Amino acid sequence: MVVAAGGPGANGRDTEEADGMADCTGVGGLTERMARFVAVVSKRLPDDVVDRLSELRLKEDGPLGQTIYDSLFANLEQAQALDRPCCQDTGVISYFVRAGTGFPLLSSLHQVLVDAVKRATVLAPLRHNAVEIFDEVNTGTNVGERIPFIHWELVDDGDDVEIEVYMAGGGSSLPGRVITLMPSAGYESIAQYVFDTVVEWGINACPPLVVGVGIAGSSELAALLSKKAILRPIGTRHPNPKGAALEQLLEHGLNQLGMGPQGLAGRSPVLAVHIESAARHPSTLSAGISMGCWAHRRGTIRFHRDLSSTILSHRGVVV
Ligand code: SF4
Repeated sequence: MVVAAGGPGANGRDTEEADGMADCTGVGGLTERMARFVAVVSKRLPDDVVDRLSELRLKEDGPLGQTIYDSLFANLEQAQALDRPCCQDTGVISYFVRAGTGFPLLSSLHQVLVDAVKRATVLAPLRHNAVEIFDEVNTGTNVGERIPFIHWELVDDGDDVEIEVYMAGGGSSLPGRVITLMPSAGYESIAQYVFDTVVEWGINACPPLVVGVGIAGSSELAALLSKKAILRPIGTRHPNPKGAALEQLLEHGLNQLGMGPQGLAGRSPVLAVHIESAARHPSTLSAGISMGCWAHRRGTIRFHRDLSSTILSHRGVVV
């Protein structure tokens, strides 16, 4: 059963009745609970995002910015009250999985995650966002060739699994960029690239934005790390003090642009800037950029060995 803060039905329907699947054990039960969690993520933003939005709302002193924040929060309340996704574009679903090699259902987990997307598409419901390349056919299930995207990290000796769910809308995917530079271009060039990309493309992603920057030695790794960066909880910093300082500098600078919520005039176009990094080849310096929108639908759930679960991103929700 799903119970959101505020009591049964706060994130939707009377879930026991509506979900109609009593079996919460084994592969079927895990799939059902994962699907319910995906549905929750589509309707309710994680606590850290709501907290930061609330902070920025208080700082916004112009009438236009205040009106926009009022409408964003009214939208979130209506999503809860009406049990609907908080944006019509429920995105393409990505999973970032840290799986203990001792997790009992590890061999079924890939199929569980795929089936959970199909089930959540009906349960939530989610918009149909999987269009097959070349055939240009929408599958109608949010499942298609290589989507949902699943990134796996295996943890030796672990026996639980932590799954991050992310819903990337079209507007927030559009600004995604990657570049590979000569190292002599320096970190200043990465900062310039971030500013240019936010100024040129950020408005498509419905600010205020979570800006993720991946720094590595190759384009594919930089791109992947930029996506991982937007999944980090707001308020956390890069473990290297120089990385943390660059995050703060970028965040401060971007918030001086005069771009406010929804890209209109205002104080803060950025909820957070996060950097993830990997060691690079001596001859290359790659930077990837991903952006999350104000409706940053991200959630983290941990399933334990006995298949009980803990939700790390949304207070008061159980599945
Ligand atoms: S960018 Fe985000 S809030 Fe804007 S339409 Fe897309 S999914 Fe919705």
